[in-house]
Amino acid sequence: MAREQDGMMHRGIGMTSERTRERLIQRLREEGIVNQNVLEVIRRTPRHLFVDEALAHRAYEDTALPIGNNQTISQPYMVARMSELLLEDGPLDKVMEIGTGSGYQTAVLSQLVERIFSVERIKVLQDRAKERLLELNLRNVVFRWGDGWEGWPALAPYNGIIVTAVATDVPQALLDQLAPGGRLVIPVGSGEVQQLMLIVREEHGFARRVIGNVRFVPLLNGPLA
Ligand code: SAH
Repeated sequence: MAREQDGMMHRGIGMTSERTRERLIQRLREEGIVNQNVLEVIRRTPRHLFVDEALAHRAYEDTALPIGNNQTISQPYMVARMSELLLEDGPLDKVMEIGTGSGYQTAVLSQLVERIFSVERIKVLQDRAKERLLELNLRNVVFRWGDGWEGWPALAPYNGIIVTAVATDVPQALLDQLAPGGRLVIPVGSGEVQQLMLIVREEHGFARRVIGNVRFVPLLNGPLA
C-alpha cells in the first residue's frame, strides 16, 4: 500500500501502480501471450506516458485509446501479439515500423530488437513520440516522416516489418524491403473486415499466415504536416 501511495504522489494518480500493471500482464497471459520477454517489457514500459494526462488512469486497461488526430494507441494485447509474432523465430536485428503513432509499440519493440526504423505520416505525432522515447532513454530508434506505403527503401532490407494501421492490400514496397527470412506483420482489409497477417520471405516467394480478426485505423496515403 505504501508503495502505491508513493506512486500516487509522484504521478498524481493511483492507476499507474505496480499492481495495476501486474493485472494487465496477468490478463495478457490469459489471452494467450507466452513470450516472457514481451510480457516483461510491457510490464516495465510506462504506457501512461504515451497518452494524454486525462486518460492516464486508463493506460493499463487492455484497450486502444485516442491520441489525437483521429488516431489511437494500440491495445496492449495487440502490441504484445504483434511483437511475439515478429520474434517467434528468434531475435531480430533491423526492424521497420509503419505508424509510429504515440510511440508505444515503438518503445516496446525497441527493448526487444537491435534497431528500429519508424515511419509516421503525421508530424506532430512523430515529434511527441520522439520526445517520449528520449525521455525513456530508448535510443535505438530512428524516425522518418513519410508515407508507409513506400517503406524506407534507402535502409532496406529489414529482418522484420510491423505495420500498425490497416492496409487495403499488402504494400508491394514492404514485401520488396524484407530480407531473406524476414517477417512482415500487417493488418489487411477494410472497414469491419480486417485480418492480421504474418508474411515470411522464403527462398522462392512468400509464406502467408492469417492470424485472426483485428480492428485498426486505416493506412492512409502521403505525409501530413
Ligand atoms: N502503434 C501506434 C499505433 C498508432 S495508430 C501506437 O501504439 O500508438 C496508426 C498510426 O499509423 C497513426 O499514427 C497514423 O498516423 C499512422 N499512419 C497511417 N497511415 C500511414 C502511412 N501511410 N504512413 C505512415 N504512417 C501512417
